[in-house]
Amino acid sequence: MRDTTLYQHLLGLPEPWTVSRVELNVEGQRVDVWVDHPRGLRWACPECGTECTVYDHARERTWRHLDSCQFQTFLHARPPRVKCPEHGVRQIELPWAEPRGRFTLLFEAFAIRVLQETTLQAACRILRISWDEAWHLMRRAVVRGLARKPVRLITYVGVDEKAAGRGQRNYVTIVCDILQGTVEEVIEGRTKRSLLSYFASLTAEQRQAIEAVAMDMCDAYIRAVLETFPEDGERKIVFDRFHLMKHMNEAVDAVRREEHRRLLAQEGGSPLTGTRYLWLYSRERIPRRYWGTYYALRDSDLKTARAWAIKENLRRLWEYRTLRGAEPYWKRWYFWATHSRLEPVKKAAKTLKAHLYGIWNYFTHRITNAMTEGINSRIDELWAAGRGYRNKQRFRIVVLFHLGGLDLAPVTH
Ligand SMILES: [Zn+2]
Repeated sequence: MRDTTLYQHLLGLPEPWTVSRVELNVEGQRVDVWVDHPRGLRWACPECGTECTVYDHARERTWRHLDSCQFQTFLHARPPRVKCPEHGVRQIELPWAEPRGRFTLLFEAFAIRVLQETTLQAACRILRISWDEAWHLMRRAVVRGLARKPVRLITYVGVDEKAAGRGQRNYVTIVCDILQGTVEEVIEGRTKRSLLSYFASLTAEQRQAIEAVAMDMCDAYIRAVLETFPEDGERKIVFDRFHLMKHMNEAVDAVRREEHRRLLAQEGGSPLTGTRYLWLYSRERIPRRYWGTYYALRDSDLKTARAWAIKENLRRLWEYRTLRGAEPYWKRWYFWATHSRLEPVKKAAKTLKAHLYGIWNYFTHRITNAMTEGINSRIDELWAAGRGYRNKQRFRIVVLFHLGGLDLAPVTH
């Protein structure tokens, strides 16, 4: 079998394409394959399918193909251009690559799977492509996936901000589908406008289908929901309980810092030394190494221990099945917190009270933000691994590539 015939079979080129020349470079570990077609054929206009004669040929282009026996393999061809009476001079569709692709479809399909399965660094090494090429592949895959994405109704939306780089300006808003656990969109900024632009991108039917939005107590996002749903926006806001607990944790930490400073100054030593992280745990998650300290301090008259107990008791609020059960519990808790003489705790309790409507809505929808349950840490990993794409546009592509639940693969013929 001649090498041109061999490659004809290996590439699976459809009619009328044939392999005209194969060059093997053993030292450079690469194979170059030239693909050609007979003259005098008519080709379809890529816009309307009208068969036209060849107008001319574009200059030679190269596509990376799957390796042959570990030799990097490149396809070369001069794509014919037709002159359609309606659409003018157009390059015809090639069966092995998408327009503007640098890789053949088979290579892209394989590369996407490798990129999905491993880190960017490892994928580049395995595929022998540059960061820039990997980026190019991911961007094309996401564009393809988004174009194919069916209009789906999302009942529960999760919204959160995420730092994308240093500085106040470098924030993005991440929108999730809570039930599917997918990231729907990554939008620049963390303003009302950021979230409004997401709602505006939906169809009227999709907007109507949204029953609740889980979020932190963030004014910008609250206002975006109220503006989008002027009738019943307030009923759709569910403050994520993990975020609410985070605010309480910060209050406990503020009490600890203040008390620790005071004890060090007045008594020259503090039992709170080295306990910062202890107080961030919930009761059943306290690591064994803290147990001794925990039991000693819990029963002490330290303000920190009191603040922690108040925080821990708030957590029980979400264990109630109904709002009717939760309401009296909240009232007792609120009284306790606001009479604790612990300023940060009082302040946190008052913030919660001002947002009570969104705490109560939990008992209707019982959702927590998908972001707080796994997606968040996955995004952090992607961010940490992606030194090469640390800007907001690239970050969006990478997050949607891995977490968008999109159908990314090119259609191979
Ligand atoms: Zn045409």
